[in-house]
Amino acid sequence: MTPTDMPPTGRPVEHHVLNPATEELLATVPSTTVAEVDTAVERAAAAQARWAAAAPADRARLLRRFASAVDAEADRLARLEVREAGHTLGNARWEAANVRDLLDYAAGGVERLSGRQIPVPGGLDVTLLEPLGVVGVIAPWNFPMPIAAWGFAPALAAGNAVILKPAETTPLTALELARIALDAGLPEHLLQVLPGAGATTGNALVEHPGVAKIVFTGSTRTGRQVMARCADRVKRLTLELGGKSPNIVFADADIEAAAAAAPMAFLDNAGQDCCARTRILVQRTAYDRFLELLAPAIESVVVGDPSDEATQMGPLISRAQRDRVRAHVPAEAAAIRGKAPEGPGFWFPPTVLTDVRPDAPVATEEVFGPVAVLLPFDDEADAVRLANATEYGLAGSVWTRDASRALRVPRAVRAGNLSVNSHASVRYWTPFGGFGRSGIGRELGPDALTAFTETKNVFISTEA
Ligand code: NAD
Repeated sequence: MTPTDMPPTGRPVEHHVLNPATEELLATVPSTTVAEVDTAVERAAAAQARWAAAAPADRARLLRRFASAVDAEADRLARLEVREAGHTLGNARWEAANVRDLLDYAAGGVERLSGRQIPVPGGLDVTLLEPLGVVGVIAPWNFPMPIAAWGFAPALAAGNAVILKPAETTPLTALELARIALDAGLPEHLLQVLPGAGATTGNALVEHPGVAKIVFTGSTRTGRQVMARCADRVKRLTLELGGKSPNIVFADADIEAAAAAAPMAFLDNAGQDCCARTRILVQRTAYDRFLELLAPAIESVVVGDPSDEATQMGPLISRAQRDRVRAHVPAEAAAIRGKAPEGPGFWFPPTVLTDVRPDAPVATEEVFGPVAVLLPFDDEADAVRLANATEYGLAGSVWTRDASRALRVPRAVRAGNLSVNSHASVRYWTPFGGFGRSGIGRELGPDALTAFTETKNVFISTEA
């Protein structure tokens, strides 16, 4: 242990993992020290060299075995996610299945990861897609399992080793995934999980010369710091950051359907979703009707014990997060408010603010809680202007029955993931990522493996 890992008390740092629905202590997990990160990188590099040299079919087979093992333990993983992150059981099951599907999909890419042959005079020119080496994946607490797998599945498939640093509040499912990988036959040290504090364990990965790329998902504030440190080392980097996504409802839309879908478009995962549609923009001529439908829909959302099959929304992740959300909501603001349990747990009711200025902090900053603003707009140009009045650009939805508008507006909104008459943003086989301050690079989709390779061009003379 180095002195920088020692808190003033002299004891090693450890993190208390709480059930956010009950505040019960689930586990105490020690933070990985900088010296331990060094050792892990060394071991990962050795494992990576062997992994990259293995036959593609063997690598694919092992990743499929890993996928099957996740499938076999999906219910256990989901229930752990419910306890550790307060996710509803339905969401947590989807999350475990997403890890399985990502591994399967990535395994299908191992034998298809081909370069090109480019015509040149005097020889043969080919490109090789070489693995990067050791990849560091730094994950947030809001979707601990899927976001980790968005990084580790394609990175492993492309021939890399992975060191995953989960968030301080949610290391348990990540540790389980590493154990399942080993049980499934993945080589030792190929996928290592190092729990710990961002400023020490996370930063050690960012600064380590043996880590070739960082995949960072988290807040824009931390992402900026990580980017600056990577810049010093010219380290490859993918950033998936925050969002303040619009849900644009035109008067020509199916207003009943749009109002029915709007609540869970920002309340899913208690609003702790980077794609949450937290700016509900409604054309003025349909505003009153929309509001009339939205109010009962918000009030009837079932908030409570996340392990109950009927629950639609669970708690926030922590007391600190609840304090942050509370600070964003002016107490006197006119609002539609849903219900939330009293007593232990980090609860906050579904909330839609109806009389805020479009430039108010709650309308422009990411709240990361079950809070949305409802804003009227006049016409299509006004809707696009409002939608783009943000530094973020992660996702957005457009509700309309006009086919031309359904094509025009998504093209005019500056964001990485748009949906029309739907709020679907994430599929493991379509690309995902942000414009502007929502990030750099793309994950998922058909090119996911390529993001974990370096292109090497080789010219072979035929005139020697
Ligand atoms: P955060 O930035 O506080 O932490 C994210 C991760 O970075 C954690 O593992 C943390 O320990 C680590 N970290 C903190 N400081 C670090 C440092 N100096 N060096 C290296 N690592 C460090 O974010 P959070 O509060 O855990 O997550 C919520 C944020 O994540 C929200 O802003 C949300 O929008 C964003 N998010 C984005 C996406 C996306 O795909 N765009 C997906 C999910 C979440």
